[in-house]
Amino acid sequence: MRATRFPLSTSREIPADAEIISHQLMLRAGLIARLGAGLYTWLPLGLRVLRNVERVVREEMDRSGALEVLMPAIQPAELWQESRRWEQYGPELLRIKDRQAREFCFGPTHEEVITDLVRREIHSYRQLPVTYYQIQTKFRDEIRPRFGVMRAREFLMKDAYSFHLDQTSLDATYEAMREAYSSIFRRLQLDFRAVRADSGAIGGSVSEEYHVLADSGEDAIAACERCDYAANIELARSRPAMPRDEPPRVAREQATPGIQTVIEQAQLLGLALDQIVKSIVVLADGKPAVFFLAGDDELNLSKARLALGAFEVRLAEPEEAHAATGVPRGFIGPRGLPEGLLLRVDERAAAIANFSSGSNRQDWHWIDLNWGRDVALPERVDVRTVRPGEGCPSCEGSLQIRRGIEVGHIFQLGTKYSESMSAAVLDENGNSVPLIMGCYGIGVSRVVAAAIEQNHDERGIIWPAPLAPFQVAIVSINAHRVEAVQSEAKRLHEALSAAGLEPLWDDREARPGVKFADMELIGIPHRIVVSERGLAGGTVEYRGRTEPSSRDLPRERVVELLCDLRRESEARPG
Ligand code: ATP
Ligand code: MG
Repeated sequence: MRATRFPLSTSREIPADAEIISHQLMLRAGLIARLGAGLYTWLPLGLRVLRNVERVVREEMDRSGALEVLMPAIQPAELWQESRRWEQYGPELLRIKDRQAREFCFGPTHEEVITDLVRREIHSYRQLPVTYYQIQTKFRDEIRPRFGVMRAREFLMKDAYSFHLDQTSLDATYEAMREAYSSIFRRLQLDFRAVRADSGAIGGSVSEEYHVLADSGEDAIAACERCDYAANIELARSRPAMPRDEPPRVAREQATPGIQTVIEQAQLLGLALDQIVKSIVVLADGKPAVFFLAGDDELNLSKARLALGAFEVRLAEPEEAHAATGVPRGFIGPRGLPEGLLLRVDERAAAIANFSSGSNRQDWHWIDLNWGRDVALPERVDVRTVRPGEGCPSCEGSLQIRRGIEVGHIFQLGTKYSESMSAAVLDENGNSVPLIMGCYGIGVSRVVAAAIEQNHDERGIIWPAPLAPFQVAIVSINAHRVEAVQSEAKRLHEALSAAGLEPLWDDREARPGVKFADMELIGIPHRIVVSERGLAGGTVEYRGRTEPSSRDLPRERVVELLCDLRRESEARPG
């Protein structure tokens, strides 16, 4: 490709509204252009990268035995009413009406459509298992679209769905998908972790997320430094340091006028935070519940949601907490709360002897309370957020907290959709059984941004070879004045193209400095400079994108040497 026929839209300026580096670089390198909030056009250069991701994803999906389909983006409301997600999904679902005032949505995901397809197409156990996938545009009306294509409203997703007669068959496909996902992210040369995850509102039980590790990641991941335990902080477990055990003392109440927080309580009473049991009122699907935690721990709302089997759990506002318990803020405690409230104690708080907590009356706290003796121990749960350095739940190692960008998510859905939408097949005995289902997503467009977060320097993007829009940049210097430069650059361009090395020949009449800066900004892995001076000595100059300096290559051997370099970089593991 010649730059005079492939306009580059590079810019030196850092776009004001781009907060993270990948967003800045994608705009500056001219990969994408913004249309509106969370809406982006993929420019020719960016689309080449996106297609590279797609190609690897498609190859690995095909290799896993999944069958490609293409479903409509617009979906009838009736299907979503059947699965009951029409009410449940909330404002992220873009609802639209056609000219006959019939309701539709723009698909944020395709469980309903694929389940409808399968209940029409698949009737016998002999047709199972089957896995369908597509690479297609999704729309989610994200509350805060940001970071460019990282959290867009319209984005490209690979979504796959598998259907099975029994759990064993689902387990086998799930395992095959895990392998396919690892191959995909390895081939894209990304530094990633598979982490245990919360399956959230989509339903189901077993689920794993694939995260590209990067400091700008929106998710926190607890990862063991020794074994392969890694979990989203939303559900990570740990072996925390437990409060010290001590013989019980006599419980007493103490006046604590005006205190509001656990810190004030600790200071006034001269206690450590892990000698305090704090009370946190939440609303679980609108119904109040109280969690008791150690004073230095934090309630993890997703773990709380799982512990209560609720759809949504949020912290109660002070007035809501007051209304639910009859106690003003700062003085709620486990002893003497009104009957009928749902109570749970975190395991670490359950291990505190001689603890202090609110007295359930204004301006008073208990000291030296003991579970069992002074107050019944509620059901124990694990609802605290793990902290860095705590013991790994699977081995003797300890947990680190790292940041990650979720690029993929695989779930075992079970029969959630097949039951609500009556998708069943006849088994060997002629009985009708609901299909068991798995689903598997990859944020294809997000992968591009995540790759840049992990691979850049102060000069621009550093593409891993399999993602690069072009493999080799040819920069010709003064070609419009020196015929030998023009013809050698042209010869190299043809030879490299023929060898499948995807060159971009920067044949613009621009200053060399401008061309070098552009090729570095757009991150092309290899650069060849053709100049009058070099040709006089029979050489061209070569520099790898991450190398500190250039070296001369004999011009007849350029193609051969670049083919070697290309093979090396393709083979590099992520
Ligand atoms: P997130 O927690 O980031 O909102 P999600 O759990 O809603 O993601 P899934 O429903 O599992 O995402 O979708 C599959 C994949 O699609 C995700 O792993 C992610 O890579 C990608 N994805 C989800 N939302 C967006 C978005 N708004 N923009 C770009 N990619 C997205
Ligand atoms: Mg989401």
